[in-house]
Amino acid sequence: MRVGIVGAGIAGLTAGYALSKQGIEVNLFERSDSITEFGAGITLSKNATILLGDLGLLDSIADIGFHPGKSFIRDYKKCNVINSMELDDNFLTLDRRDLVEQLDLRFKEAKGIIHTNKEVTSINPSTGTLSFANHQDETCDLVLVCDGIRSSLRDSNFEGQEPRFTNYIAWRGMTQITRLPKFEDSDKVNVYYGPGSHWVHYPTGRDEMVNFVAIEKNPKWSEESWKVEGAKTDFLKSFEGWNDDLISMAMSSERLYKWGIFERPLPKTLYNGRAILLGDAAHPMVPFLGQGGCLAIEDAYCLSALINQITDLEKALSIFDEMRNNRSRWIQKRSRLQGSFNHISNPLLIPIRNIFAKTFMKKSVQNLHSYNLNEELSLKLQSRL
Ligand SMILES: Cc1cc2nc3c(=O)[nH]c(=O)nc-3n(C[C@H](O)[C@H](O)[C@H](O)COP(=O)(O)OP(=O)(O)OC[C@H]3O[C@@H](n4cnc5c(N)ncnc54)[C@H](O)[C@@H]3O)c2cc1C
Repeated sequence: MRVGIVGAGIAGLTAGYALSKQGIEVNLFERSDSITEFGAGITLSKNATILLGDLGLLDSIADIGFHPGKSFIRDYKKCNVINSMELDDNFLTLDRRDLVEQLDLRFKEAKGIIHTNKEVTSINPSTGTLSFANHQDETCDLVLVCDGIRSSLRDSNFEGQEPRFTNYIAWRGMTQITRLPKFEDSDKVNVYYGPGSHWVHYPTGRDEMVNFVAIEKNPKWSEESWKVEGAKTDFLKSFEGWNDDLISMAMSSERLYKWGIFERPLPKTLYNGRAILLGDAAHPMVPFLGQGGCLAIEDAYCLSALINQITDLEKALSIFDEMRNNRSRWIQKRSRLQGSFNHISNPLLIPIRNIFAKTFMKKSVQNLHSYNLNEELSLKLQSRL
């Protein structure tokens, strides 16, 4: 079998590695001239890290990441704890550059081939043909469309709607761990609820740096990009009244970036002929549960396991579609709900929200992270084979 992958993000690289490891010939095409990510943090929870473990990827990734061990919800002014919970060793925080570098390295070690500077301009799902900006063609038995939230290949080959701005803007930055607020446990995962906005910060395990994200509700459209810089004066206006130490942590970041959060409903089916959607190309979601990258890893694992166990490709793709469509739809919806919960601004509802956070946070997070893809896979295979 010959597989072509479009896009070297978390989805494309993890799928590429998992398939190459099975001895499948994989060519991955990336439009950028190198395989790099932007310097920003990412959290990976057990539902994804356990799969990285099964693939033999976890040890090297865990070595470069950080194990926070605990997470806290606090109020935005005095930073008083609303609730806290233990996080097991399977919960990691990382710098995205380290994650992608590691996936890239392991993909190449598994004999996967990466072609950079190779933008795929179109695909033919019936024949598995990929066409490039330089007019050459490549034909594969299967094409994995992993070209992210702005997927142009999804637009032209799958039904579904355009990405939609969610009215959330994420401000993000990185700073030294020494700039954290000086209270106990500020070096764990800390989430703060403010009126109509929330913050998260955690260490990344790289160069003693901390990643922070501050989300505001703002209907003014902002670009969906890791690279758009925002003015510190605008940031200060948006987060007036927040704790001084938190503000000075944010101000110590050399630059602040602004990211418009977009979402896109899943298409009815995730495959068309020999082409299949994975990661953000299939199910971009608001990031309030930290699950977009985790789901990309689940997608990659699920597809490679199905291809390994089922010789009939059409059947493997249809089982993938059934499993991943349901799961991603559900997490997309839950992430949206979490967004409404995190951004309550009505002063009468805030105390009620905080009681909910105190009572149900642990159960809800455990429920989210304990999803076992292998269990669902074996049940599905029993019923379909
Ligand atoms: C503020 C924020 C915080 C987040 N935090 C978390 C978190 O803590 N945990 C978590 O799990 N997730 C998180 N996410 C979500 C996560 O970042 C994404 O879900 C994940 O990066 C998607 O990976 P991907 O491989 O599907 O897409 P991408 O990373 O977008 O990769 C797509 C790749 O395709 C390439 N490409 C595009 N078009 C073409 C083409 N035509 N030809 C060739 N190459 C092409 C692009 O250059 C790119 O390299 C967060 C998202 C945001 C916005």
